[in-house]
Amino acid sequence: MPMSIAPPLQYTLVARDGGARLGRVATRHGAFDTPAFMPVGTQGSIKGVLPDHVAATGAQIILANTYHLMLRPGEKTVAALGDLHRFMAWPGPILTDSGGFQVFSLADINRIDDTGVVFKSHIDGSTVELDAARSIRVQNDLGADIIMAFDQCPPANAPAEDHTRAVNRTLRWAEECRRAHQRANDQSLFGIVQGGTNLELRARCATELIAMDFPGYAMGGLAVGEGFDAMNRVLETTVPLLPNAKPRYLMGVGFPRDIVAAVAAGIDMFDCVLPTRNGRNAYAFTGGGPIRLRNAAFQQDSGPIEAGCGCYACRNFSRGAIRHFFFAGEMLGPVLVSVHNLAFYQRLLADIRAAIGSGSFSDFRRNDPRSRLGPAEPSAPMRGDSPEQMISADEANRPGPD
Ligand SMILES: [Zn+2]
Repeated sequence: MPMSIAPPLQYTLVARDGGARLGRVATRHGAFDTPAFMPVGTQGSIKGVLPDHVAATGAQIILANTYHLMLRPGEKTVAALGDLHRFMAWPGPILTDSGGFQVFSLADINRIDDTGVVFKSHIDGSTVELDAARSIRVQNDLGADIIMAFDQCPPANAPAEDHTRAVNRTLRWAEECRRAHQRANDQSLFGIVQGGTNLELRARCATELIAMDFPGYAMGGLAVGEGFDAMNRVLETTVPLLPNAKPRYLMGVGFPRDIVAAVAAGIDMFDCVLPTRNGRNAYAFTGGGPIRLRNAAFQQDSGPIEAGCGCYACRNFSRGAIRHFFFAGEMLGPVLVSVHNLAFYQRLLADIRAAIGSGSFSDFRRNDPRSRLGPAEPSAPMRGDSPEQMISADEANRPGPD
């Protein structure tokens, strides 16, 4: 008699507080608590941070980019070296995206139609084809626990007909991804809801994807310039349509303010390059607001990046020393601020989970200053900042390699 194999992903809803959900997702490589934040390992590495240090920040699942890994070193090379878990020296859960977002936002596109995309590789100029079946074959070779359907994400300000066409393609490609998936016993394929800020289009996309019965669902095409209020409207109306028994992932988001609002709408999973990309630019997240460690005010500051933070950087290094590393071009500066920012994000998510568990999430959202940390407004420089050192909201949010 054949042994029955448990599904490769199990979601347990532990508690609800309003729309917010406390849960746990089990995969073949271990479990993670939700709401969860996934650090981004664009090229198969969380830039500059040892996996042990990533884990010590509290991260339980990380993300890698299919687009970058398929171009270099190639998915066959990653598979020959074991798989992505071995390649990244990360034995826990991993998620790969489909490559679609990077192709549509970064690549030099030659042709795009209903069958897929043809673009020029930024590595060697060669012509590369990516479609639903190829994206899944690549992700099957990479071997992440959660893989994503190939979708089309138009810019937020694209004309209405572009969003309609993108949804039609996304639905067609979702079905093609399902058919192409060869490792359904150990990898879980999530569908992605597109539709821009058009609520009817979002609802249609969600409904049709739900009928395909994916083990989890993502909200794509948000935090791409539509603004905070528009993003919230989409989440508040679309997320409740998704099945309660499956995880929901908001792709590429974002600032602490955005994460807290999305948790309130029922989102369980997040990823964003902000903690590491900004960390490499000496931009440190703190509960009192971001600080720029290059500023002269920190030259002889013996305190940690953030008082009370237990991360490796804050336990061992002063702001003044870290500032020096940035000016001296020492790698340790970007590494330490990346570690701190990753710890800041994991602490935020742990505190969110604790608040949901104790039924106090709405108090947390109202009273915790982190709930208001969004992109810096040009008219409101960050503490200790000079204007030319600011990362604009656009720059901080722009898609691209971490
Ligand atoms: Zn710290």
